[in-house]
Amino acid sequence: MRYYQLLLPTLREEPAEAEVESHKLMLRAGMIRKVAAGIYTFLPLGVRVMHKVERIIREEMNRAGAQEVLMSCVLPADLWKESGRWEQYGRELLRIKDRHEREYCLGPTHEEMITDIARREIRSYRQLPVNLYQIQTKFRDEVRPRFGVMRAREFIMKDAYSFDADEEGAQKSYWQMFDAYAMIFRRSGLRFRAVEADTGLIGGSFSHEFMVLADTGEDVVASCGECDYAANLERAEVGRVVEEADEEIKGLERVDTPAQKSVEEVTEFLNVSPQRLVKTIIFDTGKEVIAALVRGDHEINESKLRRHLGALQMQMAGDELIADVTHAPKGFAGPVGLDLKIIADYALEGMRNFVTGANEPDTHLINVNLERDFQVDEFTDIRLAKEGDPCPRCPGRLQMFRGIAVGQIFRLGTKYSEAMGATYLDPQGREKPLIMGCYGIGVGRTVAAAIEQNHDENGIIFPISIAPFHVLILPVNNKDAQIMRAAEDIYTLLQEKGVEVLLDDRDERPGVKFKDADLIGIPLRLTVGEKNLKKGKVEMKIRRSGEVVLVELEGVPEVAMRMISEQLGDGVSVS
Ligand SMILES: [Zn+2]
Repeated sequence: MRYYQLLLPTLREEPAEAEVESHKLMLRAGMIRKVAAGIYTFLPLGVRVMHKVERIIREEMNRAGAQEVLMSCVLPADLWKESGRWEQYGRELLRIKDRHEREYCLGPTHEEMITDIARREIRSYRQLPVNLYQIQTKFRDEVRPRFGVMRAREFIMKDAYSFDADEEGAQKSYWQMFDAYAMIFRRSGLRFRAVEADTGLIGGSFSHEFMVLADTGEDVVASCGECDYAANLERAEVGRVVEEADEEIKGLERVDTPAQKSVEEVTEFLNVSPQRLVKTIIFDTGKEVIAALVRGDHEINESKLRRHLGALQMQMAGDELIADVTHAPKGFAGPVGLDLKIIADYALEGMRNFVTGANEPDTHLINVNLERDFQVDEFTDIRLAKEGDPCPRCPGRLQMFRGIAVGQIFRLGTKYSEAMGATYLDPQGREKPLIMGCYGIGVGRTVAAAIEQNHDENGIIFPISIAPFHVLILPVNNKDAQIMRAAEDIYTLLQEKGVEVLLDDRDERPGVKFKDADLIGIPLRLTVGEKNLKKGKVEMKIRRSGEVVLVELEGVPEVAMRMISEQLGDGVSVS
């Protein structure tokens, strides 16, 4: 490709609208332009990178036996009403009406559509397993779209759906996708981890997220330093370690704590550490009201508690409900004499002589003890994991890091097939629901995450497998016929070898060309200048390492090809 033919409008200035590096760099490198909040156009350079990622995805999905389909973006409301999500999905679902007043939505995900296809087209166990995928535009009306294509409202997604006859087959399909995803992100040159995740609005029982490690990531992940346990914060378990206190049990006392409500206030007032206090938090699931106990220096993890209770929804009690069940204002609740189901975090086992609220205004209890003063109905893991907590799987400790979720895989079971009547006939002729899995990758988000992880102060450093071009040829002076002839020769030779080359044939100052070269992040730069050319050489610079070598003119194709194959890794061809 010749630069002068390419629409590549790079920007010198930092775009004010962008908060994260990937967003700034995608704007500056002329990859994207904003259309409206959370809606973007991809310009040629951006499209080339998107296509690279899509190609890797296609190759790995096809290799795993999945088949590509293409569903519509406009989805009939009736299908969503069948699954119950027309009501559940809330305002993220963009609902529209056609000229006949029929209701539709713009697809944020395609479980309903694919289940409809399956119930029409799959009849027999002989047709199973099937895995169908598409790479297509999605729309989710996010409240706060931000970070450019990272959290956009309109975005390109690869979504796949597997159908199996039995649980064993469904598991196999799930792990096949797990492996395919690992390969996709590895081939895209990303440092990532697969972590256990919550299932959210998609539903299902089991899920993994693929997290690209980046300090700017929105998600927090807990990961063990010793074993391969990793989970997102919502889900992260904490190991059960009972520390047997050898302290003597003291007599229960009531103390005045006027207007002292928070953990900080109470512990400071009583001059004890937060580890000696137990917080009592009242929750309402709509079906029952319960009290959850966690140590003063720990935070409650509401998703873990909700899952433990098997509740669909759960809310922290308001002031009125608290007063109703504890007979005291907020801040003075405690488990002693409380007539509610009590669920305590594992960290409370073995605690002695602790502080709790007294269920009386301006009063706390000290030297509270389990068994003697109150009974816990269930001990379980309900606290938010933090750095240094014990791993749930081994004696190791948890470390926290930030990441960007680029893919997620789910085991859906029969949630959609049962709701929508998608069945097949087994060998005995019995009708059974299809067992499903679904698997998503944000294509634009993968590109943004790659940039978030691979850049420096001068611009993007593309992993070669997703770079818009492999090589940039930079003649320093367009007026010099000899330089231009050498640059053109190299350009032709490399193209013949299947290398993707961009020739910067613009009539610009060398400084401008060098700056743009760094900004757009092409892995190899060949600089053709007068001085080196006289010695029959050109300068080759590796964008990532900054390493510069002089290469004989005739040797350029060979050296370039070698460097590209090395960076691409084994088994991946250049063209
Ligand atoms: Zn571990």
